[in-house]
Amino acid sequence: LPLVAIIGRPNVGKSTLFNRLIGQRRAIVGDEPGITRDRIYGEAEWAGRRFAVVDTGGIVPDDDAVIPANIFKQADVAINEADALVWVVDVRAGVTPLDEELARLLRATGKPVFVAANKADAQRVDAEALEFTRFGFEQVFPVSAEQGLGTGELLDALIARLDFAVVAEEEGDRGREIRLAIIGRPNVGKSSLLNRLLGEERVIVSPVPGTTRDAVDTLLERDGQRFRLIDTAGIRRKGKTEEMAETLAVIMARKSLERADVAVLVIDATEGPVALDANIAGYAYESGCSIIIAVNKWDAVPNKTERTAAEFERAVRERLKFLDWAPVVTVSALTGQRVERLLALAERAWQARHFRIPTSQLNEFFERNIAPFGADVRGRGGGRLRVQYVTQASVNPPTFVVFTAGGRPGLHFSYERYLENRIREEWEFFATPIRIVERHRS
Ligand code: GDP
Repeated sequence: LPLVAIIGRPNVGKSTLFNRLIGQRRAIVGDEPGITRDRIYGEAEWAGRRFAVVDTGGIVPDDDAVIPANIFKQADVAINEADALVWVVDVRAGVTPLDEELARLLRATGKPVFVAANKADAQRVDAEALEFTRFGFEQVFPVSAEQGLGTGELLDALIARLDFAVVAEEEGDRGREIRLAIIGRPNVGKSSLLNRLLGEERVIVSPVPGTTRDAVDTLLERDGQRFRLIDTAGIRRKGKTEEMAETLAVIMARKSLERADVAVLVIDATEGPVALDANIAGYAYESGCSIIIAVNKWDAVPNKTERTAAEFERAVRERLKFLDWAPVVTVSALTGQRVERLLALAERAWQARHFRIPTSQLNEFFERNIAPFGADVRGRGGGRLRVQYVTQASVNPPTFVVFTAGGRPGLHFSYERYLENRIREEWEFFATPIRIVERHRS
């Protein structure tokens, strides 16, 4: 997806605008600690076009940000990766010296800049927004992020300028290769794991000629199966400061998840699952990718027993409850232990996510598991709903449509869960998320 970065000095309303643009779409994952908090990334949809938005206000701590150069330094990764920038200014405050300085830095990026003249809540401030036209950027849009005024015009202009062709191209060239993303927070060993994979004996490596934009993928072949390691250049890139490294890891994860079928989420065995692991795992979950959790640096864990692995897995499961279907493998990029196994698991996951349950089997499953016990179920609104039948609408990821009737639409979460569990008991769907959507007829 094309990426838009929101930038501006503190307290101009960046996060409010961010929430407006992503339409406050509730994260599927819910309120697990460390996932929805500190959300800097979201997806916006406008006139049938989708793009990603990053809120640099989530990256830059307010007290450092009184110096524009600092705002830029810390938002560096987001700005570099962005296709367009939205500069948020405060019309009530007018043009401040900080804005002057920011404008200069923004111009130097050479990227298209859209000015969101925020807090234009009343007619009279519209005129004040015009003050910002003197910087010569694309266009100035008076908006009120809080009241949702003027954002439509801004969105129109954004999608007119973003390059959506890239996305179409990427989707067109999917072949039988398995697209693999290696994601995780800084220093968990992503690059080391990548090097190890590329160095495996049975693996044939070939570079991929200029794929999309600046991303460099690497093709791997093992036992006749092709893998495309998504953005291998990005896996190796390191942030200069800890903060930048963390932002980069999140951005990289988001970008490569968009193009991947299977994600290897790397966690550091010597530090255990921490909040940022959960945060990145949340993005992985939302992406719909199949997921394998690789607990790396297993060589560095002292006095290992069978129990150590089980305990670690329990800690991972506890922290990443929403990934209960993702396998956990302990590996060592250093010694190579079980690294090649990741490829075999990815292959299995790929097959699972492309598996379509034959209709006759699914009908039979319905007659056996749903019709007799649960066809008449509790809806989210409290009333009763009748489950009429279930179909598998698509693969990659497997998506099921539950047709309901009567009462008000809204399958209860626990019922979706029940259905998912029953489906998994029959067909596993190894390492793969299952989507359940409802179609209701009243
Ligand atoms: P990245 O930021 O996730 O790409 O992490 P790197 O691959 O740069 O690794 C970070 C550090 O962890 C480096 O010092 C590596 O040598 C070390 N490291 C990576 N994998 C392993 C491993 O399996 N075992 C041990 N003991 N150290 C590792």
